[in-house]
Amino acid sequence: MHIRKQRLLTPGPTPLYPPALHAMMASDIHHRTEEFRNAYRSALADLKEVYGTANDVLCFAASGTGAMDASVSNLFSRGDKVIVCSAGKFGERWVDITKAYGLDANVLKVEYGDVVTPDRVEAALKAEPATKGVFIQASETSTGVEHDIQTIAGLVKNTEAIFVVDAITGIGTMPLDIDGWGLDVVVGGSQKAFMIPPGLAFLSVSPKAWKFADTATLPHYYFSLKKEKKSGDAGESSWTPATSLVMALGEALKYIKKTGVANLIENAQLLALATREACEELGLELFAKRPGSSVTAVKAPAGMDSKVIVKGFKERFGAIIANGQGSMQGQIFRMAHLGYFDFADMFGIVAGLELILRANGHRVELGKGVAAVQRVYESAQPKKANA
Ligand SMILES: *Cc1c(COP(=O)(O)O)cnc(C)c1O
Repeated sequence: MHIRKQRLLTPGPTPLYPPALHAMMASDIHHRTEEFRNAYRSALADLKEVYGTANDVLCFAASGTGAMDASVSNLFSRGDKVIVCSAGKFGERWVDITKAYGLDANVLKVEYGDVVTPDRVEAALKAEPATKGVFIQASETSTGVEHDIQTIAGLVKNTEAIFVVDAITGIGTMPLDIDGWGLDVVVGGSQKAFMIPPGLAFLSVSPKAWKFADTATLPHYYFSLKKEKKSGDAGESSWTPATSLVMALGEALKYIKKTGVANLIENAQLLALATREACEELGLELFAKRPGSSVTAVKAPAGMDSKVIVKGFKERFGAIIANGQGSMQGQIFRMAHLGYFDFADMFGIVAGLELILRANGHRVELGKGVAAVQRVYESAQPKKANA
């Protein structure tokens, strides 16, 4: 009770990979030297490998939103007709960005907790053949839902439009076959499944999207895809890079490659499954209608403000978990699974949750949720003993 370790358990920033943190100390390096160029080239190459694409992958010194902004300002022109899928706070960010740049956005909005279905996108594409782009979140972190990216990609692929996917919490938590499915722009961020602090934004650009860059007329300066591509090819970034984060990224990517991207995804999927099973045992209702594996959003028990649970984690266990955002604040809490999370974290989180719920009047039999997590752990173990 007297020692409470600080634990960052939110869906971004996520827990940090210690060797990546140590690598940050080697940032007393000048960015226009061969030494740094080697580190940068290697990080970009590993990033491309982790993205699993033949497309160009670029890196910016910005939070994830910087790359979302760049995808609009570099690939579109004022008045372009686009479709924006909006299923939560991050979908609303696409709406805000496209509107800020004067695009003509057809917003396909759903209630929080729900998803935009492929048939709605199909109908919107049919209704407006001049559509230039379709924007979506792979994983909508604010509600915990996952979109059917593969099916929607199949619909966009045969049109004139490009498919722009905010996969900031999708990468590393769900399969995303960028080249096979035809995802034209895929946005990522360092503080999610990449296990390092905030400050780097990534995006992949398909050949179809590069053609858009040739005709787009929106103004942009700092976030220039073409300039960044040219700089990256020369082992540099266009402006002074966030050197400490690049060093961290290099180290984290080595770990992700060694683990294997498919295993990183399976890790998040298993933790999400275990969390859902625990919630069922504890009589808690999920918020997402189509839950993904980056984060599990759970409704607070009737009559309980979810702030009580968030505060309980902080005060009792020094742990930061996520409340709901916007109007979901007080209604839901979110348990994250992306990046550097493991089963030992999950045992602790669910055990803590049981204690907090009980202390606040929700009937809980201690250990029921934890046992559900343990069962998922056991059944996921390779059955070596009997082989
Ligand atoms: C974290 C996140 C972002 C990016 O937010 P930043 O604060 O700019 O890093 C965008 N979309 C989703 C789905 C996210 O989870």
